[in-house]
This record gives sequence, structure tokens and C-alpha cells, in this order.
Amino acid sequence: MIAFHTPFFWLIQHFLIPYSFWGALAACVTYFTGYEYTHYLMHVPKGHYVERFKWFRFIKEHHRLHHKYYLRNMNVFIPLADYHLGTLITSEGWRSKALIHKQNLEKKDKAKETTPANSEG
Ligand SMILES: [Zn+2]
Repeated sequence: MIAFHTPFFWLIQHFLIPYSFWGALAACVTYFTGYEYTHYLMHVPKGHYVERFKWFRFIKEHHRLHHKYYLRNMNVFIPLADYHLGTLITSEGWRSKALIHKQNLEKKDKAKETTPANSEG
């Protein structure tokens, strides 16, 4: 993956953003090192200290669902893109942006129905 990205970093530095190659390469190496190690820990749990953290358990469950529904939860580290692209699912169910919007509208409608009308005045 790093070798695949390197020519693009060079092209970007050469034609668009001067002095960006080494920073882009460092970010790429950092991301893929973190990704590969975290992915390994998700699949081969060995009592590593990060397994105690809530964020790790969250991304592990997020990734488990990715293997079950392979076109969902595409981002291992940061599910923000999945949320915005409508590919996010959680163990509670589908969490697409459209569904969340619909649920929020239903909550607002329910709140309006249960709020007593203002009889004073
Ligand atoms: Zn995996």
C-alpha cells in the first residue's frame, strides 16, 4: 500500500504541493502501521493492554460487523466516513445517515404530541 501511494505523493509534490512528499509518506506509513497492528489485535486477541479500552472494543465490534457485512463499516479506525457515506452499522442495527435523520424527526413529532398544549392565556 505504501509503495502504491508513493508515486502519487511524488506527483502531488511535483505538480500541486511543494515539499509535501515526506510528510505524506510519514502519514501513510503511520496509518498503515497502526491499521495493520490494530487489525492483527482484533483478529488475534492476546490480552494486549489496548484490548481493555472502550474505543478498542468499539472498533473491534465495528470491524466484526464489517466481516459479516463486507460492504459496511469499511473504515477500521475512524467510522466517520462510514457515517457520512451511509455504510455505518452497529450491533444495535443499521445507522445510516438517512435512518438517523428519520428517527430524529420521529422523536421531534412524538415530543410535540406529548407536550401539553398551553392552556393559559
Ligand atoms: Zn479483519
